[in-house]
Amino acid sequence: MTFNPPLRPIDADDDTLRAHLRDAEVPALLMTVAHLTGDTSFLRDDARSNGWLLRPQGGMSEQAQEEARASALAALARLRDERAPQPPPPDDRLLRRITSWALGPDTEALVPLVAEEIAPYGTDPKAPAWHKDELAPDRDFHVSVIGAGMSGLLAAHRLSQAGVPFTVYEKNDDVGGTWFENTYPGCRVDVASHLYNYSFASRSDWPDHFCTQDVVLAYFRDFAKHYGLYEHIRFGTEVRGAVWDEERGAWRLELGTPEGDRTTESQLVVSAVGQLNRPKLPDVRGRDTFAGASFHSAEWDHGQDLKGRRVAVVGTGASAYQIVPELADTTGELLVFQRSAPWLRPTPHYHDPVPEGMRWLFEHVPYYAQWYRFWLFAPGLLQEGGILQGWVVDPDYPPTERAVSALNDQLRKALTEAMEAQLTDAPELRRHVIPDYPVGSKRVFRDNGRWLATLQRDDVALVTDAITEITPRGIVTADGTEHDVDVIVYATGFQASRFLTPMTVTGRDGRDLHEHWDGQPRAYLGTNVPGFPNLFCLYGPNTNLVGQGGSIFYFSECAATYLTDAVRHLLSTGATAMDVREDVHDAYNAWVDEGNANRAWGWTKADTWYREGGRSAPNWPYSALEYWQRTRHVKPEEYETY
Ligand code: NAP
Repeated sequence: MTFNPPLRPIDADDDTLRAHLRDAEVPALLMTVAHLTGDTSFLRDDARSNGWLLRPQGGMSEQAQEEARASALAALARLRDERAPQPPPPDDRLLRRITSWALGPDTEALVPLVAEEIAPYGTDPKAPAWHKDELAPDRDFHVSVIGAGMSGLLAAHRLSQAGVPFTVYEKNDDVGGTWFENTYPGCRVDVASHLYNYSFASRSDWPDHFCTQDVVLAYFRDFAKHYGLYEHIRFGTEVRGAVWDEERGAWRLELGTPEGDRTTESQLVVSAVGQLNRPKLPDVRGRDTFAGASFHSAEWDHGQDLKGRRVAVVGTGASAYQIVPELADTTGELLVFQRSAPWLRPTPHYHDPVPEGMRWLFEHVPYYAQWYRFWLFAPGLLQEGGILQGWVVDPDYPPTERAVSALNDQLRKALTEAMEAQLTDAPELRRHVIPDYPVGSKRVFRDNGRWLATLQRDDVALVTDAITEITPRGIVTADGTEHDVDVIVYATGFQASRFLTPMTVTGRDGRDLHEHWDGQPRAYLGTNVPGFPNLFCLYGPNTNLVGQGGSIFYFSECAATYLTDAVRHLLSTGATAMDVREDVHDAYNAWVDEGNANRAWGWTKADTWYREGGRSAPNWPYSALEYWQRTRHVKPEEYETY
């Protein structure tokens, strides 16, 4: 796999160009052409429509799309004929114009963020602009990174760029984290592949719009290889405990390694252990008595041949949603046990390959890939006008379990209509598959029709009575039925609110992290906890992005910028440790809690891992812009530095 492959010259004749442009995402194309030519008249007002960010092709009419393609064809043909060199990134004036066309007039604050995104292929505006050799060449400063998944590899790369010595400890035998562990049938991303990657290590040849697990895992392996990270990773090594030694100004890590237990010391620790990797099995009487095979979706037993067998899948969350349609072609009979129905967001191209023309545009047209990525990202950048607005509770509406605002109700209607259109042959399913909680209270899944079609198969049954017991033969439900099955798949999710478990973490004055959290993990910016100096979390508490308006890669890139700035601060001041101030941490978390309480997932009475024990520990309730602004630089006054 090649990262940031060099662009090829535009060499196609007009007819070929025209054919390629049929596969273009037109709003991204218009922004690209405006950038390449400097001519903002491409950004026609009539190409915009209300709510366009969430509609295919930005909600543009067929005619507007045709006209836009024709004008883009003329512009690209001119650039080809003139053999125009690749232009520089857009200046602020052009950026301002394009951004406000895409996202509305109130976008001034976005301009520096978008400038980072629209950088030439192969450049890395978020890379640390300093090196340890310049700041503190003789200082003994080593970082331990826990986890070699998406966030851990990123932290490792950033530290490597800054010349800071580091070691990564990974419990698995390879990189990839959740993408290494989850190998269930049908596993793929539900955030667009062109967004679900590191901004500075992009690919122009993603095979699908939403790639399968093997492709995502290969990306991480190639990334680790390309950036020389493998040699820094200790595989099969679990960090069991971390203890802060105030006198030495260092963390002592207790490791379980293939060679036995060890300890090691680092001046700073990065926890990049992820949120969704400790399986949660249902607490149902008799679960251990089942005589057949049973396993969790994240621990798929590939030794089981499911052909022709009666299989139960418990759960209808994001994993089950991908597993069930895939299994139905193999199993003899499939029973799907649903506690609550998921909302589905129409995404006709969910399983489609990237069309040839679009791929050609990525490979040949300067900045098309960047503007396309920006376009995918745009719904999550702002609150007003973005996807987030749909989840905000309007107290005057008034909110109910049907909807939390007029906009939220509009979304309910649109999604319900799309689902009902798929149920014309099975109207009796309607009352079981249309959710009874507000849209956005739980993750909304990408829908290309496969889920409801699968539930309508004769060899698939949707069971909605509660599970009361598991017996040696199968699953008993509240109506007294015993459903005999050969295999049970638990697609019942993860212990999402139990951050950093099962590790023990002991900070200043013997403070235990999990006792301190008492089941309610909190951190400042998702990274720092008072009393735990020089401990930085990536993808920590309240950094989960809701609604596919962006990608978790982005949040980790922001947190990694913050982390490296903190390391810079320690090295340049000669300080030993940074401990976030309690009042700063508390005020920040009060603000986060207030945001989460006023989102659909905070408001609903429905059971959701987005909120456990009355508080959301995973979710970020604000825009990506807000997180980016807060993580650009460490503010030393917010820390006790000593
Ligand atoms: P999940 O979303 O938490 O779903 C768990 C499912 O199990 C829910 O339907 C839940 O019902 C059900 N359940 C739990 N306990 C049960 C019980 N005792 N009886 C009956 N049903 C029970 O877990 P997941 O599907 O593994 O997904 C977790 C997260 O991983 C996702 O939200 C997403 O962030 C990530 N993920 C992403 C992708 C992707 O496409 N990129 C794929 C898979 C997972 P209730 O809804 O009623 O609680």
